[in-house]
Amino acid sequence: MSDPTELRRVPLPGDGLQERAVIVRYGEISLKGRNRGRFEQKLRDHLAWFLRTHHHPFSSIEIERGRIYIRGCQDVPDLKRVLGVYSYSPALEIERDYGKLKEALAGFFPAIRGSRDFRVSCQRLAKDFSPDSMGVERELGTLIEKSTGTPVRLKDPAFELHVEIGQRRIYLFAGKIRGFGGFPVGSSGRLVSLLSGGIDSPVATFLMMKRGVLPLLLHFAVSEAETAKVRRLRDRLQEFAAGEELRLVVIPREELFLGKLPELYHSRFEPYVCVICKYLMHKAAAELAQREGALGVITGDNLAQVASQTLKNLQASRSSATLPVYSPLIAFEKNETMALAREIGTYELSISASEGCTPPRDPKTGVDPARLLKVLELTGLR
Ligand code: ATP
Ligand code: MG
Repeated sequence: MSDPTELRRVPLPGDGLQERAVIVRYGEISLKGRNRGRFEQKLRDHLAWFLRTHHHPFSSIEIERGRIYIRGCQDVPDLKRVLGVYSYSPALEIERDYGKLKEALAGFFPAIRGSRDFRVSCQRLAKDFSPDSMGVERELGTLIEKSTGTPVRLKDPAFELHVEIGQRRIYLFAGKIRGFGGFPVGSSGRLVSLLSGGIDSPVATFLMMKRGVLPLLLHFAVSEAETAKVRRLRDRLQEFAAGEELRLVVIPREELFLGKLPELYHSRFEPYVCVICKYLMHKAAAELAQREGALGVITGDNLAQVASQTLKNLQASRSSATLPVYSPLIAFEKNETMALAREIGTYELSISASEGCTPPRDPKTGVDPARLLKVLELTGLR
């Protein structure tokens, strides 16, 4: 059972001795060697911030051997919004005592009675507990089968009761809810992110946040409606930032073109407008990054998605970039990007209509950097 809504319905009878807890797992952070402590601390802080901000009372939150335990929970928070969380489980925490473990099973009987079949899966994080995992599974399975009348079924059971024998406590839970994994926002450093009102750049920004980046958002404004949409996209991304502020810098696109855009559209260089635009964006983004001490730039570029997103055009438009450019969607299928956009809640915002830019009628698809520089000189934009 890993459907969050179903998991949240499983009753956890907390009565002082048995406490409701949430076990948080964080995959990759545990591989971080010497930096591990810093990552764990940040994730712990972000979880605590999230719980407080979203009014989920808890009594303690502790790091313990590759897990974070939140204790004294009265409900199950949506921890998918805390980046760095690989999975989590609402659980019943009990003393490390086999007799107590057997007593605590009763709390799960109603849910198991309502299921077609079940199994017990045991994991010993500490190996000094007896019986061993198989022994626990067999004995508890038999006990539950006798008490509830529900049969054991090892393969694809309708209800899986997990028993996790920890260092100091035992945990009982019914399943794992997947998070996005990755690292806590801000744990890797800062990048400038070129954010448009489209589908791609919010997803690209999210993916980099998931790798621990704190983005400084930069938007070149085309219309008021488009800028309002970008502010809403910022607000949505902010929900994943665990209290770290996502700043948005807005610069009128006219400023990029030094007021020469109308004449450019009416000149023989009109087919170059998009490449020039991207070149100027990268130049401005690199300058902002240098000023702010950010270490590079994120874009939502996707190879060959539109006729003008060719390797040549990408090369030419990035020739003004003085810092590394990160484009996590470069090889994504549009469907993959759309699915992720839906999952993080940016899709509906991105597809809402707003006045964007007017693409040239016949955009250049293979501009080389030298040619672009020549065009920039001729148009007074260099
Ligand atoms: P998106 O869906 O993110 O708009 P796209 O596939 O439409 O991407 P382009 O419009 O060619 O691609 O833009 C490529 C990238 O350039 C965008 O993903 C974004 O990072 C950046 N970009 C485009 N327009 C703007 C803008 N007005 N302000 C800031 N960045 C922009
Ligand atoms: Mg776009």
